[in-house]
Formats: sequence, C-alpha cells, structure tokens
Amino acid sequence: MNSIATQLIHSIPTDPLTGAVSVPIYQTSTFVQEAPGVNKGYDYSRSGNPTRAALESLIATIEKGAAGAAFASGLSAIDAVLKLLETGDEILAVDDIYGGAFRIFTQVYQKFGIKVRYVDTTIAENVLNAITPKTKLIWLETPTNPTLKVSDIEAIAKIAKSRQCLLCVDNTFASPALQLPLTLGADIVIHSATKYLGGHSDLIAGLVVTREQELGDKIKFIQNASGAILSPFDSWLVIRGIETLHLRVKQHCANAQAVAEFLQSHPAVNKVYYPGLKSHTNHTVAARQAKGFGGVVSFTLKDDTVDAANAFITSTTYFKLAESLGGVKSLLCHPAQMTHKSIPEAIRRASGVADSLIRLSVGLEDAGDLINDLENAFAKIKSRAGKKEQLAEAFV
Ligand SMILES: *Cc1c(COP(=O)(O)O)cnc(C)c1O
Repeated sequence: MNSIATQLIHSIPTDPLTGAVSVPIYQTSTFVQEAPGVNKGYDYSRSGNPTRAALESLIATIEKGAAGAAFASGLSAIDAVLKLLETGDEILAVDDIYGGAFRIFTQVYQKFGIKVRYVDTTIAENVLNAITPKTKLIWLETPTNPTLKVSDIEAIAKIAKSRQCLLCVDNTFASPALQLPLTLGADIVIHSATKYLGGHSDLIAGLVVTREQELGDKIKFIQNASGAILSPFDSWLVIRGIETLHLRVKQHCANAQAVAEFLQSHPAVNKVYYPGLKSHTNHTVAARQAKGFGGVVSFTLKDDTVDAANAFITSTTYFKLAESLGGVKSLLCHPAQMTHKSIPEAIRRASGVADSLIRLSVGLEDAGDLINDLENAFAKIKSRAGKKEQLAEAFV
C-alpha cells in the first residue's frame, strides 16, 4: 500500500467482533478479567483503550513509525516528550516556536533544570554550531507559526545523529499527508491533532509517534504514568478526521497557493509568507521534503500598524477572527494581539512578527470567494485610510 490516500483509509481496522466499518467507541473505564491479569488485552482505559489503540496504530502507520500514543492535547504530547529528559539536559529549539511550547519549556521545565536555547534552524549549520555535550533534544517545527520558516529535516537529522541527540519534529502544520519527518531521519513526531488531523475545529488532541519501538515504549510508560490520555470519543473523532485528511489537505494547499499569489500581487501588502511562493527563502527545501506547502499563509501590510491590521481583521466575512487553524472554515488571526501577545514587543518584532502581521488559516471554501473576501477587506481599509487623511487635512 504505497499511496497515502489508500493507506489513510485502509489502515483503519473494521471491528473484528461485529464487522462494524467505523471503529466502535469503547466508552468504558475498565475491562472484566477472567482471573487477575488474564484479560483480552485491556484492563483499564488509562493504560489502554481499543478506540484509542486504533488511532495510535493508525498514526504510527501513516507517519511510518513504530509506535504511536494519543494525548489529551498537543501540549500534553509535547509534555510527554519533555519527560524523556533529565535535569541538566539541554534542548535546542527553532526560534520561531509555537507559543505554548515556549511557555512549557520556560515556565514549567526550566525550574526542573532543563535549559532551552533557540536558534534559527533554517540554516542547518546553526544547529551544529549551537550543540553542546549537554544537548539531548533538538526541537523543530517546519513550517513554523506564524512566519512559515522552513528547516531542512534531513540535514538536521544527520547533525542530531552525529551528536547523539534526539530530533523531534512538530509536524502539525504539514501533517503526514505532506511531510514524513521519520523517513527523513527524525526520531519523534508530535502533532496537535486539534488542527489538520482532526480537521473540523471540534476537538483538542495530541499525538506522539516514534521511529523506534523502544522509544515508543518509554512514551507509552509516560502516557500511563502521567495520565493525559485522549478519550475514546475524541480518539474516534480524530480517526474520522484522518479518513479525509488527504483530500482536505490537497484543497487547503490549492486554496492557500491561490490566496498567497493574490496577496503577493496586492498593492496594500508588504510581504507574504508562504513556502509555496518562489520568493520564500527555503522554497526549494520545502519542495524537496514535502508534497505540498500547507494551508497557512501570513502577510504584512504596507501600513505596518496594529490599527491597520485591526481594521483588516474585522472587515472579512468568510475569514473568521479566531485562534487555531486546520479546520474546514477559514480563520484569521493577528499574532501581535493574540497568539504572541505575551512576548515583549521588541523580541516579537525581531522574530519577524511585525505589528501588521496577519495569519490566515485558509479553509475549504471556494478559493475565488476567499479572494473576494480579502479584496473587500482591502477596499474597506483603503477607504478608512482615505477618511483619516481627509480628517488630517481638515485639521491642517
Ligand atoms: C496548536 C499547536 C500546538 C498545541 O496543540 P494543542 O492541541 O492546542 O494543545 C502545538 N504545536 C503547534 C505547531 C500548534 O499549532
């Protein structure tokens, strides 16, 4: 089975007991035992549940790993990976990192003596130069949020291996429909399944997949010991989302490419961030390591002010103002006031999150309608700017 479309659909088992085509939701806390320790493979749903197990084996198959584990959120998946570390260990992380990952690194794990250093991983040599004997984990997101930076997974995996570090890739933005980090040498993949895998903005979930079984066993131990498991119902929802992942992601990519090209040609736009544009710094790396460029597009305005961004984000109809991404409905957000609000202004700007930066999660509506929606919002902010000028002139 080498086509991802077929694999996504046929790695989901039919129920051996009843033949049910949809994986049954085993909504149970415990399982009857014939004698102590004699059971049908399950004894307690924190340790294992058949619905969750179906999802865990599905994600391991499609990410081409040995073992999968499903968690209550993307952050609890990240948390489980961090628990592989010990006091004194160091993490080397991509500088444009997801805000929640930054928070758990600095505000939870730092006090246990785990140090994190951030580097621009878009240049692989930077990683090599920053590794110390204490570095045990390299943390990549590619593409990143919200500036869509792309890092070369294969090159960084080689560096990690030569220095006996684990490489973990947060594959949330690409999804396994586009990018398979474990086949490029990564040791661990994590997901916020809340985004493209779930795909319908109706759940919070996280996944971990390891290339080797031994590391997977450690993650499974942590999952059971810490207990942040995904519920049977949410496991079922993620399975259901994955059934259409391939189709959805294809359309997300096509729509995002059209939107990015439209933005690039618009006179009110300063810069467009999308790996599918030839102007993107690491376009060739993205084209080599992924089958598509994803559904997230960010851009800045020529009028680089919070005011202008505010006027824009409140002027669209189909793009709804909300955090998150990867669902069927298009969303937009303003990182400076939303996801990156807690980061000091100077640091935020230096990392590329300009005052007017707007992030779009391009959904599955008709691409022409989405472009019209953006066109109308530009027209509205232009007439607003015109009025402001008239006012200013009136006061001269
Ligand atoms: C949303 C997100 C997370 C966190 O996932 P939750 O499901 O919200 O806990 C982690 N990484 C990336 C890249 C994300 O977009």
